[in-house]
Amino acid sequence: MQALRNISFAIMFAAIAATAGTNVDVEALAKQKGAEFHWYPVQKTFTLVDKTDTMKFAVGLPYATSHDQTVELSRAPEIEGGHIVLDSVDAAKLFKAVPAKEPEKPASSSSVAVKSSDAKVASSAAKAVTATKPATPKNETAGTREVRTIVIDPGHGGKDTGAQGKNSNEKDIVLSIGKLLKKELEKEGFNVKMTRDKDVFIELGQRANLANQWDGDLFISLHCNAIDATAERKKQIKGYHVYVLRAPESEEDKAIARRENKVATLYGEKNAKEELSPIEWFKLEARLEKYKQNSYMFTEEMLKAMDGGKIKRQSGGVGGAGFMVLVGALMPAVLFEIGFISNPEDEAYMMTDKGQKDIAARISKAVSTYKEAVHSYRETLGR
Ligand SMILES: [Zn+2]
Repeated sequence: MQALRNISFAIMFAAIAATAGTNVDVEALAKQKGAEFHWYPVQKTFTLVDKTDTMKFAVGLPYATSHDQTVELSRAPEIEGGHIVLDSVDAAKLFKAVPAKEPEKPASSSSVAVKSSDAKVASSAAKAVTATKPATPKNETAGTREVRTIVIDPGHGGKDTGAQGKNSNEKDIVLSIGKLLKKELEKEGFNVKMTRDKDVFIELGQRANLANQWDGDLFISLHCNAIDATAERKKQIKGYHVYVLRAPESEEDKAIARRENKVATLYGEKNAKEELSPIEWFKLEARLEKYKQNSYMFTEEMLKAMDGGKIKRQSGGVGGAGFMVLVGALMPAVLFEIGFISNPEDEAYMMTDKGQKDIAARISKAVSTYKEAVHSYRETLGR
């Protein structure tokens, strides 16, 4: 029945789309509907926010997110004469999906595009808005509850050595630091899990799966950066960098993700790819949104804790790209490039006991202050 209904929707929708197709200026539409319009020029995405929903769009992609669900559009939003435009059919469909105050009416032919599941979500969202107090979810998800379980993910391992320095392999450095970090965190009372605690190979996708099984509150993937260049360049390029999962804004960040993702394609991992497509980014959006704030909160604490250490920040110290190891993690997550293994100074420091202990202690400090920050945020919410 559901399938049949979807097909008939699709047919009706196609019929209307074929006859419609007039462009609606999104900014004017927002004004008319009492919604806020936000444009993000770097990602070429925009949102329409009203009392019941935050709808997300991307120029060039025939999808939108409405009530946390992906909705197919008849036509991708475009930029036309400096204005962002949407197909009139899509505009009508999306704004009809939100019942203002009245209870949901049975679907008529004019509301073709509203999938029954969307309508259900829309009506429950409307209900939530009228409630006097925000409901506390029964099972709080990672990011909104107290920080207890930390998942340490030492990158690479086994047949995958990771980047190679003159005197060391990435897989060994990150494992040693990971083990030291575990000790430090346990001293602070955290429950600590490691995706690997010996020299074994684990697929990228499996790492996030493990973290989810353990119901982690924070995922820290440990890596060493590297460049392929002349000895002179290798001497110049050094420093640490904290990465979160977000659309890359520079070619450098993109390249780093590609290098870290390569292992999956190299060893034939299922669903392996070196880069996320625009549509995959878009589908990830709702989930990213959920953990973004906490991932950034932890990143901030990492910068504070690392500053003053031997390994300095590389440029801004923060970046984002499509790291496959972070994609599946249902919790705040970062990928930490501790230093450049291709740089003699960084490598030497990362190889010594003293250096490894210092780095582990700094990361542990960042985790503790992050835990405190989440705790006080919860207090302000009265939880
Ligand atoms: Zn790596």
